[in-house]
Amino acid sequence: MAKYDPKSLRAEEFIHDGEIQETLAYAEANKDNGALIDQILEKARPQKTETGYVCAGLSHREASVLLACEIPEKIEKMYQIAEEIKLAFYGNRIVIFAPLYLSNYCVNGCVYCPYHLKNKHIPRKKLTQEEVKAEVIALQDMGHKRLAIEAGEDPKNNPIEYILDCIKTIYSVHHKNGDIRRVNVNIAATTVENYRKLKEAGIGTYILFQETYHKKSYLELHPTGPKHDYDYHTEAMDRAMEGGIDDVGLGVLFGLELYKYEFAGLIMHAEHLEAVHGVGPHTISVPRLKRADDIDPDEFDNGIDDDTFAKITACIRLAVPYTGMIISTRESEDVRSKLLRLGVSQVSGGSRTSVGGYTEKERPHDTEQFDVSDQRTLDEVVCWLMENGHIPSFCTACYREGRTGDRFMSLCKSGQILNCCHPNALMTLSEYLEDYASDKTKEVGYKMAEEELKRIPKDKVRQIAEQNIRDIKNSNRRDFRF
Ligand code: SAM
Repeated sequence: MAKYDPKSLRAEEFIHDGEIQETLAYAEANKDNGALIDQILEKARPQKTETGYVCAGLSHREASVLLACEIPEKIEKMYQIAEEIKLAFYGNRIVIFAPLYLSNYCVNGCVYCPYHLKNKHIPRKKLTQEEVKAEVIALQDMGHKRLAIEAGEDPKNNPIEYILDCIKTIYSVHHKNGDIRRVNVNIAATTVENYRKLKEAGIGTYILFQETYHKKSYLELHPTGPKHDYDYHTEAMDRAMEGGIDDVGLGVLFGLELYKYEFAGLIMHAEHLEAVHGVGPHTISVPRLKRADDIDPDEFDNGIDDDTFAKITACIRLAVPYTGMIISTRESEDVRSKLLRLGVSQVSGGSRTSVGGYTEKERPHDTEQFDVSDQRTLDEVVCWLMENGHIPSFCTACYREGRTGDRFMSLCKSGQILNCCHPNALMTLSEYLEDYASDKTKEVGYKMAEEELKRIPKDKVRQIAEQNIRDIKNSNRRDFRF
């Protein structure tokens, strides 16, 4: 019988079903325990230090108690603290990215995904390098600097060499003032050797959604194909880290299993990475199951409403304060608006989830992976963020300056964010405004940049940032960073 051990490299020991069941029972027993809930909330609150803020985070048990709690005032307090944490470590910046679908060939049988092998009416498509180039130009023309590449799992059609070729092509395209400066990768679990190749190709974060931590459901939801192997999938992040990738992104596909179970598993996974590798996940994504070709989300029993979704987001923020949180265009403008305040630090914008979608004039649906709820253009998303007090950031400086893994986390804790990330956000926003924005967005943006520059504490840093922004406006000099 496996026993719970966060330091173990065996899936059944670090995502331990017995421990999750006990956690859920403990959370249920304490969901009305006001004194304990207050104590947990106090623990989660950011503490001011001489140089910045620190946060203790929460264990999976503590965070699960908060998630189970249904007392309105306590939930309100969770939201307040989530916002405090967000502001302490991420400020009002929101990083922008877009997904790029390379291929929808897939040999897996995932029952919730339209790319599953048995779906015979979806056209199968794989971008050639010329097509990758064309998609990247279209993305650069929108103003994107950061991509997440996506592909189905198919060793024949999408071998690692194909993914590596695509990454090379993406980094090689420099159209007008554009370039893609960070490529994150969302491909199926693979070998240490392949992760090493991805690292060498200069990827940012390796993202892999667990889909569900519940092993029995996982096996049913992934009945065929290599993804059926729960242990291999669950242990992927350890192999990625062994291969040298120190920024990894976790996620659960909410709607497949009971959310409280998934939440406990997700936080345990983060604890495991911290215990074994000394650094937690760089990001956590919170996708919800969506309608797609051959997929009806109503056929899955565990859909969650918007309020529960908000609570999950806030509880993740409290539990893992230094981890970035990503929300995609699976969610509507309204939902995204709410979640941005509760701790989300990255959003996608102007996304198309079909293979080759960016070069089409009209949004194509035939190869789409899921329905996109937020269908606004990137310019509209950028303008909307600013009108709501968020700074859209196209910054990619950390990973290009080697600030990955625990080095990124120490920057987060050092209080130097206002002297580093903040000016970087403003400089990359200015690039966007100068090269791609509509007149309205440009006006809103420069007004915001002017105000936000005043918040940079160090005179020297502020002066350099101001000069760089003048250079961006008056020349083709780009890519300034601290
Ligand atoms: N094929 C890779 C894998 O197996 O991990 C990853 C790429 S897949 C294109 C990206 C993610 O989309 C999946 O991990 C899954 O969570 C999500 N996804 C699949 N079907 C979905 C649906 N109907 N609605 C929302 N998200 C979905």
